[in-house]
Amino acid sequence: MRGSVAEEIDIAIIGAGIVGICAAAYLTEAGRKVVVFDRTGVCEETSSGNAAAFAFSDVLPLAQKGMIRNLPRWLADPLGPLAIPPAYLPALLPWLWRFWRAGAPRHHEASLAAQATMMRLAETEWMGLMDRSETRSMLREDGSLELYESEGEFRASLPGWAARDRFGIGYRHVDGADLAGLQPGLSQRFIKGTFVPGWKTVADPRLLGKAVWAYVESKGARFERAVIARVDAGDRGIDLALASGSTRRAGQLIVAAGAWSHLLARNFSDTIPLETERGYNTTLPATAFDVKRQLIFSGHGFVITPLATGLRVGGAVELGGLKRAPNYARSRAMLEKARRFLPGLDPSGGREWMGFRPSLPDSLPVIGRAKAAANVFYAFGHGHLGLTQAAGTGRLIRDLVLGQAAAIDLAPFSPTRF
Ligand SMILES: Cc1cc2nc3c(=O)[nH]c(=O)nc-3n(C[C@H](O)[C@H](O)[C@H](O)COP(=O)(O)OP(=O)(O)OC[C@H]3O[C@@H](n4cnc5c(N)ncnc54)[C@H](O)[C@@H]3O)c2cc1C
Repeated sequence: MRGSVAEEIDIAIIGAGIVGICAAAYLTEAGRKVVVFDRTGVCEETSSGNAAAFAFSDVLPLAQKGMIRNLPRWLADPLGPLAIPPAYLPALLPWLWRFWRAGAPRHHEASLAAQATMMRLAETEWMGLMDRSETRSMLREDGSLELYESEGEFRASLPGWAARDRFGIGYRHVDGADLAGLQPGLSQRFIKGTFVPGWKTVADPRLLGKAVWAYVESKGARFERAVIARVDAGDRGIDLALASGSTRRAGQLIVAAGAWSHLLARNFSDTIPLETERGYNTTLPATAFDVKRQLIFSGHGFVITPLATGLRVGGAVELGGLKRAPNYARSRAMLEKARRFLPGLDPSGGREWMGFRPSLPDSLPVIGRAKAAANVFYAFGHGHLGLTQAAGTGRLIRDLVLGQAAAIDLAPFSPTRF
């Protein structure tokens, strides 16, 4: 690599999303000197605008028989819960094939068990990190309410709830006055619901990320705004080539670059089938409707989250790659449904947003060491659950970097599993 090496960094992290921030937290607490690089800022992209859920009970992998059965119906609606732009389909086919295979009972069961183990760790680690970073006041512990429009939809959800029974996840099916009490003003079209008391949300994911970063910075970590164009493993460390033309050298590197991570992993001979599930939402003024807790409309692929900073309506999946321009008609389609589901909701004054979920076909993240560089570690691919699993991932990255026994079995998260 050409250019002069200005400075030796102990640990470089690429990506200041919530995963990079949490990895920085654990490594800094362990006494390591960390520099986090991001092209935008701290918690400014996908980690800033998500649905704010600590979804610790969301252990079911996405690829499952029920979901695959729904695919034709969802794909037929261009603004429905799932879209694949036809021009992107050829590039997506290998990922879709792996996704379909991940739904086979044997693979599905293994992913479910790994996800449940990860979630237990994730919850413990977030609660600890929130205490240490004094961000606990940003936690909302009022549960979630999943809603069904028909007996058929409710019955179809039952195997998923039975699977959660095996992991001790608490929930209560509700209807009538119980349902109306959990969310006053809900449309009569919803005849049943499931209340999950242990589900948590945060006041605002962007503010949480920034607050945790303030704690990490107070412990000595540094942020540098830069596009990392290339990374190379050499005899004396990892060389980072910045798009500006300058270089940095680090003793160890963590790749936490969200949906762009596989592009960096290629520099270390790792081919990782990372795709992006683009998601959309609209954040309304907090006065738009009195939503008591996160409402989940699984049949329509979106949620409504009451935040300290507004009311966020959105979700959906668009398997459209990293380059295509956003199609905010998707945000508007969900907002229009929200208006029908909560008659009286004021849809005005909203801010539209799109984010890039970094997704692997088996719904598990990649947490492990690069094949061709022992001092490079991967922490990406958390799909729908990056906020939820960020602190657990930070803990596991610390275990790996320090050479300690990992808190959980890392085999299901290995970069070489594909
Ligand atoms: C609509 C929607 C709703 C969601 N709801 C939830 C939820 O309720 N709960 C939950 O747990 N998860 C949710 N998610 C998922 C969650 O937002 C993601 O999994 C998480 O934000 C990923 O975090 P990350 O740190 O891996 O990546 P990111 O937040 O994408 O951060 C990666 C960073 O790396 C930077 N970067 C990449 N390449 C380079 C480079 N070469 N040089 C410099 N910088 C680089 C990017 O600029 C970016 O800032 C949702 C996602 C969406 C889209």
